[in-house]
Amino acid sequence: MDGNKRPSKPTSQEKKLKQNNDKPETIDDTIIPIKELTLYSVNWCILGKVVNKTQLKTFENSRNAGKYFSFVMADNTSEIKITAFGDQCDKYFDQIMEQKNYKIKYGTIKDTNKTYSTINHDYEININSSTVIVESPENITIVETNLAKLNSIPDHQIGTIVDVIGIIKYCEDANTITTKDNKTKTKRDITIMDDTATSITITLWEAEANNYNPIPSNIIMARKLRIISYQGLKLSTTAATTITINPQIPESDQLRNWYQQHNTNEPIQLSSALYQHSYLYKINYEEITKLANLTLTTNVIATITAILQSTFYNACPNTICKKKVEKPYCENCKANIIMQRKMVLTMKLTDATCSIYVKVFDEEIQKLLHINANDLEQLSLNDKNKYNLKINTIILTKWSFKIKSTINTYNETTSISNKIISLDEITSPTYIHNLKHQIDTLTKLTK
Ligand SMILES: [Zn+2]
Repeated sequence: MDGNKRPSKPTSQEKKLKQNNDKPETIDDTIIPIKELTLYSVNWCILGKVVNKTQLKTFENSRNAGKYFSFVMADNTSEIKITAFGDQCDKYFDQIMEQKNYKIKYGTIKDTNKTYSTINHDYEININSSTVIVESPENITIVETNLAKLNSIPDHQIGTIVDVIGIIKYCEDANTITTKDNKTKTKRDITIMDDTATSITITLWEAEANNYNPIPSNIIMARKLRIISYQGLKLSTTAATTITINPQIPESDQLRNWYQQHNTNEPIQLSSALYQHSYLYKINYEEITKLANLTLTTNVIATITAILQSTFYNACPNTICKKKVEKPYCENCKANIIMQRKMVLTMKLTDATCSIYVKVFDEEIQKLLHINANDLEQLSLNDKNKYNLKINTIILTKWSFKIKSTINTYNETTSISNKIISLDEITSPTYIHNLKHQIDTLTKLTK
């Protein structure tokens, strides 16, 4: 077939390209950066290095059967996936080789399916009958990594593929979970932080979860992670992810220096809620029912605008149990206990979008009011004025809340029940950092 002609073919086309630059029917020499290729590009020609090529694969469905292969071409701006089907495989499968450079002109540009693609480009190319591919002798530098700062993660769409580098702050043990389709998978969550004082969780899956035992304060560089939204913004490994621990690159030194300075001095308290906060209006039936476990966890910054009710009760002192009890015996623990007085408040939270009612429990109330259940109950029974004064100290104060929302059905009426899982003071360094990030984002939008 084409095999014998192959070595001479690119050279002749290459010459034609240089000599007949003015004639429209030949390859246009104007190369556009791969990053700039869009659905609206006309007469485009890209030049890049093939960094990855698949085997020839076959597919079969009810309507037809066929073969295809794909390759990834990179230049110094980006990378793109190119796929050939059927006859085009015969034409190009042998011609395209990894580490060689090609010029490609014409082809069908289509949207990338971000759910599956690990290539960081909004579009990909299908080779069609008018596609022209010629080998090019040019020396090409390609993007090796495109390290994203962690504070820029919220600026990307969910599903985007990113490369990151960070200091490992926390590391969970690997554990096995059962997926919805009844498969078992190993996962391990690690939390990293970079010199923007932002932290994010990376979920390592399968081989990555087993193969790496990340040690806190080590540096991790991970390429081709996907941005996901699961209980906040996170990064997740993909089939294409590569991980390097303590990479020998200038960014590592930079990060280590930054970390030493900021860790010995006053460590910047990271609250992921500040960076990945949502809004109260997002707590609704539609959002909750989308989730398999019907439980929505939301991080918000909101103001306490009213306290509606306080209730006091006895509970099991066992910190794992904490069950409500009526007598000094816990059915759950099957043990005699010393009952502990606990409290629960119903309060109204408000942000720029709306208000909701939430329940807040004992430990979190102590963080808010600096008073225990016994003392607050005494005030509520004996000195209503003092009780109100105490309660009012938190009205119109702003906090960072983590709220768990579920749907309750009782007597055929459904309602959303919101509980506060944790709350944090908005400390000034993080608050200022968060504001700076919001300003940066807004500045980018106005440019
Ligand atoms: Zn108990």
